[in-house]
Amino acid sequence: MEGRVVAAHGRQYVVQLADGTLLPCFPRSKKSEVACGDRVDIQRTSDDQGVIEAIQPRTSLLYRSNEIRQKLIAANVDQVVFVVATEPGFSDELVTRALLAAESEEIEPLIVLNKCDLTDKLPAARGQLAVFAGLGYRILELSARDHAEDLRPYLQGHTSVLVGQSGMGKSTLVNALVPEARAATREISAALDSGKHTTTHAALYHLDAESQLIDSPGLQEFGLGHLDRQEIELAFREFRPYLGQCRFRDCRHDREPDCALLAALEAGTIDSRRFAIYHRIMGTQRAG
Ligand code: GDP
Ligand code: ZN
Repeated sequence: MEGRVVAAHGRQYVVQLADGTLLPCFPRSKKSEVACGDRVDIQRTSDDQGVIEAIQPRTSLLYRSNEIRQKLIAANVDQVVFVVATEPGFSDELVTRALLAAESEEIEPLIVLNKCDLTDKLPAARGQLAVFAGLGYRILELSARDHAEDLRPYLQGHTSVLVGQSGMGKSTLVNALVPEARAATREISAALDSGKHTTTHAALYHLDAESQLIDSPGLQEFGLGHLDRQEIELAFREFRPYLGQCRFRDCRHDREPDCALLAALEAGTIDSRRFAIYHRIMGTQRAG
């Protein structure tokens, strides 16, 4: 049987079958890494349990990593919606890192600035996002509390994943856009056979026949240890015109003479904060 993973919590998954029913499943092998959004082949082992035999080829996989392991966020998405807010404060480095992960998987990014009703905080938040706007990233300003619907046209026809630090308003958005989300969450929790999983899992919701929305748990870190130097450099979209233009082929863009990136930094076409983030990421990267 085939199905789609609609919830992931640790090594427990909920798979939605073709007829819509939800089946709790475990992966067959200890090593297999299944993500919310994966299309899988399963075998029913009992009335209310199944085993994931295989993961079908993915069109995309959004993930982050630290030194120890990879954390799969969502599979088969074509859009990542990164939610920030006017308050509490957000980390623009986290936004940068999530955008890099999206770029490396060719997933279309959209930044949502939530809580725009808090007008006194709006200019500072806009200022923090100006660098992304300057790079051509789409930024949607809204207020999830009263105008979550503003996001719906952007989700139409896509499988999107919502990513962000906690407190930015992801749940508010999901509950407004998917009225049955609370019920679905309860159903999924029941399928996982425990109420304690309600807040920490990733879950896929159907918006309409062509549009799905995956909600992912709030995050505070976005490690990119799975990307090598070349992938990171390409993911900084403003670096692309300069790559391969340095005097040295293995240029680290640090102190080398005739470095095209350092020249662009000097000229102001590359933002200094972005450049600092690049070096910070490279400092923790495996050789590549
Ligand atoms: P999550 O952790 O990202 O899921 O964030 P929540 O959806 O739980 O929202 C965090 C807090 O921000 C809650 O107290 C919400 O009521 C509040 N909040 C969400 N959206 C808005 C908004 O558009 N305006 C204002 N003022 N508060 C909001
Ligand atoms: Zn260089």
